[in-house]
Amino acid sequence: MGQYVPKLEVVKIYVSYSKICNGLGLFAKNKIKKNEIIFRFDGKIVYQDYTNVSMPYALQLDFNKYLIPKGIYKYVNHSCSPNSYVKLINNKLYLIALRDIEKDEEICYNYNTSEFDMGIDAFECLCKSPNCYKIIKGFKYLPLEEKIKLKPYLLSYLKRYLSEEINAVLFLSYGNKKV
Ligand SMILES: [Zn+2]
Repeated sequence: MGQYVPKLEVVKIYVSYSKICNGLGLFAKNKIKKNEIIFRFDGKIVYQDYTNVSMPYALQLDFNKYLIPKGIYKYVNHSCSPNSYVKLINNKLYLIALRDIEKDEEICYNYNTSEFDMGIDAFECLCKSPNCYKIIKGFKYLPLEEKIKLKPYLLSYLKRYLSEEINAVLFLSYGNKKV
């Protein structure tokens, strides 16, 4: 009967061998414009602490809350110079283009904008970008100035954590001046 309407992700992305790490990655089927939704992550939400459990595909949404992506979504890789970012809207997680993405370009985001502490899943980054962090361990471990740079792209729980950290630093420096 009706015309077959492919799912959004089938239209925009495909899986192939990653150019930035060993394994698979996601690539743009066609040009994707800045600010465009690339896809909505499909998966299961779990409430537990995975810091010391190996869950390499789990995506952190809050403290003790993760999304375990289903299907091809788990292949989105990390880059220290990403072309996309994750955004939580009404408890659904989306991947959004940070800039225009060319056809056949690998789609990646900065894991430090979603993961607080990657624990035993910390890894050595092979992205080769000039600002590469080298070891990806999670937001917690970044220097404060790096955390502030990432602010527009952070999930809201990390934005809250960052403002608390900034307040603590301001409080300390104010305290030092008074001494
Ligand atoms: Zn890197």
